Amino acid sequence: MNGLTVPEKLSFNKFELDEHSHIEIDREICRTKCISKVCLFICPAKVYKEHKGEVTADHAGCLECGTCLVACTEKALRWHYPAGGFGIIYRNG
Ligand code: SF4
Repeated sequence: MNGLTVPEKLSFNKFELDEHSHIEIDREICRTKCISKVCLFICPAKVYKEHKGEVTADHAGCLECGTCLVACTEKALRWHYPAGGFGIIYRNG
């Protein structure tokens, strides 16, 4: 594994996708209080996208690092780990 980039190492991971998202965005707080939209920049998996001023989250590629939850100073996110058996399965520590 030495010599591989982080994206290359992450490509070995597997995901068991739960149809229910473990990430919820409070759209009212997001739209009216959040100016920085830090989730768009801080998520290493690029889970968050903005389209016409609306932030969405595609939970399928979430690495479960919790960074977005800490970074969202307006507390617009409700985040929990996926249900047992779902989410990321790390293959590389
Ligand atoms: Fe992105 Fe980590 Fe938040 Fe998942 S927990 S959405 S990988 S910042």
